[in-house]
Amino acid sequence: MNGKKARAVRAALRERHEKLLAELQAAEPVRIRTDGEREVWQRGPVTLMVPVVPHDYPTELRDALTSYRAAILHGKCPRCTITKKVTKAGTLFYRHEADCHADPDRLAVLAAAHGVEYTRGI
Ligand SMILES: [Zn+2]
Repeated sequence: MNGKKARAVRAALRERHEKLLAELQAAEPVRIRTDGEREVWQRGPVTLMVPVVPHDYPTELRDALTSYRAAILHGKCPRCTITKKVTKAGTLFYRHEADCHADPDRLAVLAAAHGVEYTRGI
């Protein structure tokens, strides 16, 4: 692939991703079902999975999971400014600021501190 064609491919991908993000932002999330500890939501063209927040979890962990859910469902974290990125394959990622309690790495540490098993990606 020459440079001109590669630039055209990147521009087309960027345009597709921006369109996908715009459709996502314009749609309201609708819950489809609950599968045990996870809920499946549809927001426009995107299917989202979020963890259920157990009522018996410590408050600190419930708050962090609630922020994590809000970021996925609404595209905004109540604690930080998230960065959104769409991969070439069309997978959407949210990245929280490093000191946000909803950052998945911090969530895992917080869960472990409370003796709760947390698997990344829920
Ligand atoms: Zn955050």
